[in-house]
Amino acid sequence: MYIPIRFFKRLLQLDILTEWQTHWASSAKGRAVFEIFDKVNPKRTLGSFFLNQIITGHGAIASYQYKFFNGSSTCSCGPSIEDRNHILFHYSNWTDIKKKYFPRNYKRSPLAKLLGNHQARIGIELIMKHKLQTILDGLSD
Ligand SMILES: [Zn+2]
Repeated sequence: MYIPIRFFKRLLQLDILTEWQTHWASSAKGRAVFEIFDKVNPKRTLGSFFLNQIITGHGAIASYQYKFFNGSSTCSCGPSIEDRNHILFHYSNWTDIKKKYFPRNYKRSPLAKLLGNHQARIGIELIMKHKLQTILDGLSD
């Protein structure tokens, strides 16, 4: 009986995906990313430096700066901890960008849905560019 090699390749692919998914769901690492992408997907690639800061919660975000560089974890708008949800959903700055690029009722959408929106991704990148520029401007003072 002839069994095509692609059958075995597919079996191996499924086995690898299952193992990857099991590891991803039970790992202690990358939980900020897991909140957004709980299913592994070998076709998903997000190569944007600025988007990846929101996805990972790393980079030009005060709560991250505090954790790794002893900066302040609070937002410039007040006593709130500045994390990705604060930046995108609560911070009143960048309303012009949010109005232009985010869907009208974006505050009721989960972050994963916002990231799935092409226009919203452009807006998030612009916000994170501004955030990084603000940090860099502070360094040169
Ligand atoms: Zn704030």
